[in-house]
Amino acid sequence: MSYPLSRRDVMRGAVAIGVGAATGGIAIPSQALAVAAPTIASCATWGAAAAQGTISTVAANPNKIIVHHTASANVTDYSLAAAYAHAREIQQWHFDRGWIDSGQHFTISRGGHAMEGRHRSLELLQEGSGAVVGAHTSGQNSTAVGIENQGLYTTATPPAALYDKLVQLCAYICDQYGIAATQIFGHRDYNATACPGDVLYARLPQLRTDVAAALNGTTPDWSTIVDNTSSGFAAGANWLTSSYSAERYGENYRYANPEEVSDLATYAATIPAAGSYQVEAWYPGIAGYNTSTPFIVYASGGSQVVRVDQSTGGGAWASLGTFSLAAGAQTVVAVSRWTTATGYVIADAVRITRV
Ligand SMILES: [Zn+2]
Repeated sequence: MSYPLSRRDVMRGAVAIGVGAATGGIAIPSQALAVAAPTIASCATWGAAAAQGTISTVAANPNKIIVHHTASANVTDYSLAAAYAHAREIQQWHFDRGWIDSGQHFTISRGGHAMEGRHRSLELLQEGSGAVVGAHTSGQNSTAVGIENQGLYTTATPPAALYDKLVQLCAYICDQYGIAATQIFGHRDYNATACPGDVLYARLPQLRTDVAAALNGTTPDWSTIVDNTSSGFAAGANWLTSSYSAERYGENYRYANPEEVSDLATYAATIPAAGSYQVEAWYPGIAGYNTSTPFIVYASGGSQVVRVDQSTGGGAWASLGTFSLAAGAQTVVAVSRWTTATGYVIADAVRITRV
């Protein structure tokens, strides 16, 4: 599997070139990480008990990341103390199963706190060489980094803080070990299990995209998401609410029958400065949903209509294009019911990103 060079690889190349051509006096950074290391609490920090056996390691770097959910309660205590208590709780569950230590390499709490799982996992990750043998996915424990995400995501949506930390942690792991962002999987890809839940599993294509952006150093300087539950969203009573599809963004989405009427679902945002912005839509894609849903983008030069096939390609950000937007608070996007194609038109979330 080939993958694009990360900035770190490019810098390693630059250092090698610099050594070979060191006649100039050009200062070259000795190390430039593409991805900043997120804060990861070590076993000592969260108060792990000693392992009940010898931790095995392998010299080869892992070649993939496997995402799990803990299938435990979707607690609303997002504190650091609660995160550490959960890490101790998981370790005890795993002792109770007869394991020598926590099975996973890393854990992320619902409050977005990242923690080491099995002892020595953090040390080897920081070295970027070799790994601890885990106990999280049958057949993959020597080759995959396992991340447990606190909660049950069969129907619930991961909190934004958890998802954002998952992106950062995966990007850091990929950068340290030279793993491509495409090599992020769910537990169910390898074993017969519901893990990591339909909703988190449906988010994995987006996770790969977001991790790739972080690795390429193209994380935008300004971006905002307006969901159908956000204050910037407005729609009339003919737009009904559903949580039917696991590919939804957030708790639910709005849907309406297509009809040649002016009855828009609108998304407003405060644009920081006049300029070019990529506008994307997220919707659950289901056969039977509308194949020609009109999205209206209120560009500064005049509104533009982009038609979206909502019967497919859901559960990820779909680009509507790049548009010039004026500065200030404004309606940026609307979904219209005015289409002759059959099937529900869907208004879920939009993302606006400065380019
Ligand atoms: Zn799992």
